[in-house]
Order: sequence, then structure tokens, then C-alpha cells
Amino acid sequence: MSQIPEIEFRSAQEIRAVQEMRLQQLLAYVAQYSPFYQRLFATHGIDAGSIQRIEDLVRLPRTSKDDLQQHNWDFLCVPRSAIAEYTSTSGTLGKPVTLALTAADRTRLAYNEYISFCCADGTAGDTYQLMLTLDRQFMAGMAYYEGIRQLGAAVVRVGPGLPAMQWETIERIRPTVLVGVPSFVVKLLEYAQAHGIDPAKTSVRKVICIGESLRTASFELGVIGQKIRNVWDVALYSTYASTEMQTAFTECGAGQGGHHHPELLMVEILDDAGQPVPPGTPGEVTITTLGVEGMPLVRYRTGDLAAAHTTPCSCGRTTLRLGPIVGRRQQMIKLKGTTIYPPGIFELLNQVPAVQDYVVEAVTGALNTDELRLHVLVKEAQREETMQRLPAMFQATLRVVPEIRFVTAGELEQLQFGKLDRKVRRFLDHRSGSD
Ligand SMILES: [Zn+2]
Repeated sequence: MSQIPEIEFRSAQEIRAVQEMRLQQLLAYVAQYSPFYQRLFATHGIDAGSIQRIEDLVRLPRTSKDDLQQHNWDFLCVPRSAIAEYTSTSGTLGKPVTLALTAADRTRLAYNEYISFCCADGTAGDTYQLMLTLDRQFMAGMAYYEGIRQLGAAVVRVGPGLPAMQWETIERIRPTVLVGVPSFVVKLLEYAQAHGIDPAKTSVRKVICIGESLRTASFELGVIGQKIRNVWDVALYSTYASTEMQTAFTECGAGQGGHHHPELLMVEILDDAGQPVPPGTPGEVTITTLGVEGMPLVRYRTGDLAAAHTTPCSCGRTTLRLGPIVGRRQQMIKLKGTTIYPPGIFELLNQVPAVQDYVVEAVTGALNTDELRLHVLVKEAQREETMQRLPAMFQATLRVVPEIRFVTAGELEQLQFGKLDRKVRRFLDHRSGSD
């Protein structure tokens, strides 16, 4: 059995005590070393020492991605010579942000991923196949690698894409766990079907799903999760993380949201006015890093919307569980009175088997309203049928029929990959006023 930190089973009061002690240490630290927070506290007349309890947090202004973009190096709390590694955000939304880690931050990150893999039923006997990049300044790739090392498990680095190579490696190395993007796992299964590979006969028992939500808000599997489970009896674990938080939320076997690591991160779920919302209600995930030395963040607005769940989990952990990301705050689309986020539109398109791939574009209409334009890749023979089905489906669920454009694979690829992007883009925000 791997070592699970005791704090994950403690009472809410004991968890609070650990968090408040670490919060006080953090605020004293940034008040002394962070040019950004020194300035922020001075501007707002804040005495960092007076913030002692979780309830006091609302007195501190929130930090936005824009602050990080505009004043990136003012967040650095150590001399440049103490930096051990430079990572960056993907730049999917605007200019990439650099996150510099000290040696201690790398150790913290490895510990975070180690306890996350423990949470996802990982053991020293497992072999993990990493279907993601370990370079291009991608923090998580390195974090997984180090976490697996700390777990005492084995790793095989295959990298993203290349279904043929993934299956060849699965047959030859016999990994027990795959780590990758769930929509890629669907592609992997399509490849297997087309090439006479039986996934059930392989060694794989678990899939750690990264980068995309796997579940609906009620923890049922979404369309992509169902597509995997329909043809493959593997355990699926959803995760949520970001470069800025340097911490992951990973599901246990119960699949009821990603478990919080209270010794590494504070998490608040806030409404638009910055006030906490009750458990079970979606709000903006706002984080405060604990134990980060290089670029700690205080009340950082992730822009991601999710609900927190506070009842104890069937695995025995008492820590907060974070539900699936229902959308990004800036990406809210208002269609004739209906509010929807891109993942909701993806979920609709994923239900149509004829749709092979897509990009959803939001534009501003003539009356200054939000409008949707769908770029879909469909086999020639299925175009007519799809042209009937999609409008009917959107009419029934959203009461609005978006503009639908059929594109070629090449055109779609041009839309999906920007110059600075590491990830496939499935949502383009071309509304006036957006970046
Ligand atoms: Zn659990």
C-alpha cells in the first residue's frame, strides 16, 4: 500500500488548522519577497499578518491571469539563480505565462503527483504509459514522471498521438495504466477496432484522464467517457490541474470528483462578486498555493467554473472534492436567453456519430448578440443526414440553430492549431471584446 497523507482522513477542523497555519506562513512570505503582492497589499492598505482565518481571505483582492501576464516577473520571490526550471502555460487563452520553479517547488510538485496517483489507486507494481508531451515547457508531463518515480512504479514515455505506436508499446511493455487525454483514448479505440486489436486482451486496467472533463456535473460519464467504457472495461479517473496552481485534483476509485490536497492548496469557489458559493453550486475556482517558493499565488482566479463537494467520500477521505469543470467564465455564451459553455456544445456534438471532429466558434452577431458557428468534419456520404440531424438537435436542446459549415480535415487542422498552442483548440472566441 502506498503512503497516503494522514491529513486526507482528518476532520474538517484539523484540515482547517493546517491550512490556516500554512496560509499565515504564505502571506508573511509574499509580503517579504513578492514585489507584486507587496505592491498589492500596500495599495489596498492590507496588513498581511491580520489575515489568519479562511474567512479573512475575502479581504484580499483576487489575482487574475491578466496580472500574471502583465507583471509576470514581479511574482518571483527568489533570485534568478535559485530557479531550477522554467515552465509555461499553454497560451490557449492569450499570451503564455512563465512559471519558474525552485528545486523545492519541483520536489513539492513530485509529491503532489505522487499522492494524486496514490489517490487514483496507483501502486509500486503499476507501469504507466505516458501519452503526453514531456517537453515544450509543459509542467504536468514532468510532474507525472516524477510522481510515478516517487510511487516506485515504472514509466514508459511514448508521447502524444501516434495510435500505432501506443498499441505496439502496450503489447510489448504491458503497462497497467495509461495517462492521456480522453478524446485521444477514443481515437486509440477506433484505431484498435480498425486494425483487429482487442483492447480487453491487453494489460491495461486503468486510464488517468487529463485535460478534459470526463463526467457531467452529476458525476455520470459524459459522451467521451461512455464511448471508452462501452468498448473497454477499464477504470477511468478524471483529473483537473493547471500550471498556475502547481497542484492536481485527482479522482479516487469512487469517481465523485477530484480530491483536494489541503496541505498544498487552498481552494475557494466564488460568485462573480467574489463571495463564496455553497457546496454543490458552481462558481469560479480560486486558488491559493501553499508551500510554493518560486511564484506563489494568492487568491488566483483560474477562470474555471466548478462546484465543490464537502461530504466525506466512500474511499474514506474527508477532503473537498472538486466536480467537473462546467466551463470557463470568459467563455460563457448567451444564446437567446440560454446560457451555455463550450463543453456543453462539445457534449452535444460528441453525441452525433457522423461528426468526426469539430471546432466551435463564437462570433458577435449583427444585433451585438452571441452567435455560434460550427465547423464540422463529416464523411461525405453522411453530410446530408448530418445537415438534418444537427439543426434539429440544437433546436431541441438550446432552442437555437447555429450556422453549420462542413470543412475538410486540412481546414479543421488549421483552425485547431494556433502558433503558440500545445493543445488542440475546439473553441474559438471571435466575439468582439474577446482576445
Ligand atoms: Zn474518494
